[in-house]
Amino acid sequence: MALSGIQIYKLLPQTNCKECGFPTCLAFAMKLAAKQVELSSCPYVSEASKAQLEESAAPPIRLITLKSNGYEVKVGNEVVLYRHEKTFYNKSGLFVKLHTSQIENALIEETRRINQYQVNYVGMDLEVDGIAVEDDTHDPAKMKAAVTAIRSVSKKPLILISSAVDVLEAGLSQLSGETPLVCCANSTNWEKFAELAGKYKAILAIESDKIDEFVELTEKIKSKGIEDLVLIPNGKNLGHNLILQTQIRRAAIKANLRALGYPTLAFCSSPVEAAQAITKYAGFVVLDEFAAELIYSLLVLRQNIYTDPQKPIQVQPGLYEINNPKENDPVLVTTNFSITYFSVANEVEGSGLPAWLLVADAEGMSVLTAWAAGKFDADRIAKAVKSTNVTDKLSKHLLILPGSVAVLSGEVEAELPDWEIRVGPREAVDIPKFYKLALQVN
Ligand code: SF4
Repeated sequence: MALSGIQIYKLLPQTNCKECGFPTCLAFAMKLAAKQVELSSCPYVSEASKAQLEESAAPPIRLITLKSNGYEVKVGNEVVLYRHEKTFYNKSGLFVKLHTSQIENALIEETRRINQYQVNYVGMDLEVDGIAVEDDTHDPAKMKAAVTAIRSVSKKPLILISSAVDVLEAGLSQLSGETPLVCCANSTNWEKFAELAGKYKAILAIESDKIDEFVELTEKIKSKGIEDLVLIPNGKNLGHNLILQTQIRRAAIKANLRALGYPTLAFCSSPVEAAQAITKYAGFVVLDEFAAELIYSLLVLRQNIYTDPQKPIQVQPGLYEINNPKENDPVLVTTNFSITYFSVANEVEGSGLPAWLLVADAEGMSVLTAWAAGKFDADRIAKAVKSTNVTDKLSKHLLILPGSVAVLSGEVEAELPDWEIRVGPREAVDIPKFYKLALQVN
């Protein structure tokens, strides 16, 4: 359980020697409680106090890392129930399920599709994190063959799913040096599964539909020396899954119940289940099949949830050339909020019409938000024009403002007397039409 500043102070040497950079031990304790300094800054903490302080400083949800050759998927380490309280740190790992009954060529082909899938969203390359292999043949040789086939085309981390230890062992034997995840342990088989996870240094997932049973099982498995666990809340339906996921997260974060302080995994057979799981609060999401249109929307959803709400995604301010603009082409102005930039850039690029895109530094805010906050005004636009030397590249000085800040046009004219200032559309989607009608470009 997290300690207060006063509780931490009682565990410090209380000599006020100042070596940590703070005038008193109490000041250091307060900073430590706020997680703004590292305990290692004080060289005089006793071993007993250190153990107590480190335990209290550990995140309420354990960090779990799946590893394979060149890949890592980290989940957990979360500290809040709601994203707006701080941020969510480690994105849900997105996995696609294949089966041991699939013939080798089909496995290889499907793995290749999953492996190659990549999509660029507001400047970021997003992809599937790994593959889950489900045993539907109850044959160790088939699991071994499936893992071998997958590994022939993909090095991404694996999740192995079976109720039989010998089947899982056949797959694990092919993954030397990796840290895969095996599932699903339950109240009847947990001892054998814990032994297997210990032997192969794998992460162990436990399945249940009861919170009490999770608490009992994690304590028992931990007593066998297995620390890296994942919980699979196996509810009766969508609503029950949501309740279980929320109860686990709440108990871990609010009550600091260490027995439930592990990431969760959700098996999803529909888009709604997957969207719910990403939103609340699955560490791993295993999809029944690979469908590019579904994966795209889930990756975007995940990206939006796992960005820091206090740090907008930004692009570099500056001058961008779209469709090889010439000296008489117009200059469109926007802000450096990524989604705004890509909305405008994609519309212009898709239209095939040339333009200069001037991106003003608005501290990563969208056009209207930045204007309301005083971060996107005539002064900033004029500064962007001057700092990029765009005037020198042009014979015709035509600047198009976003329609939502038409109110700025007079002030921009005053700041840039050599420019013709025009007001463009409010929405990026209307830019091509504006080009053709207002600017009379064919
Ligand atoms: S270094 Fe340790 S003992 Fe010295 S003032 Fe800081 S907290 Fe106190």
